[in-house]
Amino acid sequence: MNEGLAVNGSCLCGAVTLTAYPVRRAITLCHCGMCRQWTGGPYMGIECHEPLALSDDAPVTRFPSSPWACRGFCNQCGSHLFFRTNNGHVLVVAAGLFQLDDGWQITDELFMETKPKYYALTGSQRQWIGDGVRRADD
Ligand SMILES: [Zn+2]
Ligand SMILES: [Zn+2]
Repeated sequence: MNEGLAVNGSCLCGAVTLTAYPVRRAITLCHCGMCRQWTGGPYMGIECHEPLALSDDAPVTRFPSSPWACRGFCNQCGSHLFFRTNNGHVLVVAAGLFQLDDGWQITDELFMETKPKYYALTGSQRQWIGDGVRRADD
């Protein structure tokens, strides 16, 4: 764990600025149908500790995408901001909001079983069935 790791970013229009506290310098892709419908492609997210610090009066809408989680977006420009479970255990913030240095890399891909065939990543990141249920190559 990187104590004190913090990143600052903003949405496309700039109305939302935020500071997030990543668990590590790692980006996870989610290929599940909900993430792809939400973002238009695989969701590239950073697992973060709470709190997610949003600017005062940030125009954020929280959409309850399932009984157990919500997704936040800027209601002025539509930028995807975060996925958060209602129990507070998981907070994943959109990687594209931040200017990340070269120390960052994609480490994991989730829901490989629902990834469409029209795209694929190269690289040595771990690939998982579901949300880390088992390795896709097992
Ligand atoms: Zn915005
Ligand atoms: Zn997903």
